[in-house]
Amino acid sequence: MKYPCGVIHDLLPLVHDDACSPESRRAVEEHCADCPDCKKLLDELNAAPEPSEMVKEANQLLPILKKWNREKKKYLWIGLGIALLLTLAYTGYSVLRSWKCVPMGKDDVVVLDIYQTADGIVHIDYDDLYDLNFYSTSIELGSDGCGYISAYRPILARRKEGPYHRNSYAGVSFDPESAFVWLDDELYGPHVSVDKVYIGIKDDPENCILAWEKGMEVRAATEEEEEFYRY
Ligand SMILES: [Zn+2]
Repeated sequence: MKYPCGVIHDLLPLVHDDACSPESRRAVEEHCADCPDCKKLLDELNAAPEPSEMVKEANQLLPILKKWNREKKKYLWIGLGIALLLTLAYTGYSVLRSWKCVPMGKDDVVVLDIYQTADGIVHIDYDDLYDLNFYSTSIELGSDGCGYISAYRPILARRKEGPYHRNSYAGVSFDPESAFVWLDDELYGPHVSVDKVYIGIKDDPENCILAWEKGMEVRAATEEEEEFYRY
């Protein structure tokens, strides 16, 4: 053989790429005719896919990859948007369900019971007609000198089906003779007497239930009720 295998190995890629002189090509071809090892290498080189084809395939993939990247970003934003909307919706719903801002009138409340314990204190149990939990209220002094129990409900509240159970009602207690105060609260001064107690919207007696007035017959508390209010 004219050339050692090492020299042919150096030339093989050039022959394959058609980047050598005709003399070099001839030398390689002559060598390969007698050398199965170098022939095998040349055949392998010729069998490998053209780099240009690989680049072409990669180029075909590129727009798909770009599109996929764009879609990925799009879906990320859509996901974030949905998460934000859900958060806002939940917050809004919670506020509408919990912020007690709508005054309740005579059609929204019901007096469940009224009775007097042995110490002279009158107790009024009442409830709203909504699916609310126990709500906090207080007696306010109206400009007409009457007592008003103003009750407020959240904007979102479902009307409750009767009959009304006495397991989540509200109640007020007051001394009708001498003082009109929460028994455990001195907020309204020591002795503010009133003749009437309304449940509903303050200073709007038309929109209220008259729960108690001076001279009204009030049943005596049962033993159980006496026990409940005994300190
Ligand atoms: Zn060889």
